[in-house]
Parts: sequence; C-alpha cells; structure tokens
Amino acid sequence: MNCNDAIEINKPPRRIRWLCSDLNPDVDGPNGRDAYCRQQIELATGVPQSFPPAATQAVNAIAAVGRVGLAAVTRNVVFVSDPILKERETVCSTCDQLKDNRCLKCGCFYKKKIRLATEECPLKKWLRASVNISTSATPTGTVTATATTAIQPPTT
Ligand code: SF4
Repeated sequence: MNCNDAIEINKPPRRIRWLCSDLNPDVDGPNGRDAYCRQQIELATGVPQSFPPAATQAVNAIAAVGRVGLAAVTRNVVFVSDPILKERETVCSTCDQLKDNRCLKCGCFYKKKIRLATEECPLKKWLRASVNISTSATPTGTVTATATTAIQPPTT
C-alpha cells in the first residue's frame, strides 16, 4: 500500500494531506513527508511501518550472536539446509512485516536471519531449525508454521 492509497482510506484533514504530498519540502525530518506517509500507512493497515528501537535491535543482535556461538561450540547446526532456507524465504518475502528487506518486528535483515538455524520468526511463522517445520497457506492467505518433531536426544 502506498501513501495515496492510505489517504483514500483514512481521509485525513487537509493539513495532513499537504504534509504527505510533494508540496511538503521536508522529506526526512520529524515533520517530513516520509514520517507522515508512514503514519498514514500504519493507520490504514494496522501494521507498524517503523523498526523497533535501536536498543531493542542491539539486544536482539547480541542474543542471536550468542545463540550462534553456542550452537558452534556445541557442534550444533549453525546454518539451515537449502530446502529450509527456501521455505523461510518464501514466508518472509510475502510477509506484511517485511520492509526494505528488514523485518519490522525484530529489525533484522531477513536474508541473513533466515540462514541461521538458531533463529526463528518473532511471529512464529517459521521456527528454529531444531524442529521440523511445515508451512501452509490458509484460505485467508496467512502462512502458518507447525512444529512437528523435536530434535531427538542422544540415545546413549
Ligand atoms: S521474520 Fe517473521 S515477521 Fe519478520 S518478515 Fe519474516 S515472516 Fe515476517
């Protein structure tokens, strides 16, 4: 959805329309066109159009690095296989939370995140690779992920 579509839906006051238009000389500032357009799209879709705060993204990144490091030292799988990678890519690339190749929920660059076996979608649309996942499209177009088999503990 673009800003014009959102304005058609929201029908904001004339001043907001002006702030969203090319007549607004400020593009990137807090009163800029982009900020007002994002706000209109959020209102129309109910989907946040901005990434989590930098501190949250930093905590997410540090936690992810920790999980990858732990997987490496415990000789667990760090990267997913090609079929799982493809499956995850399909889910993310059609997700309404994807913006500029980044996930609006966690702020991650999705093409990097989907490679890591230790990571999972914050909305559980795909899971850690330590479980088998299957995705299916519902009649409403929502993709769901279902955990079927957990990794088996060693038998000896
Ligand atoms: S990680 Fe999940 S929420 Fe984020 S873009 Fe991918 S599917 Fe969507």
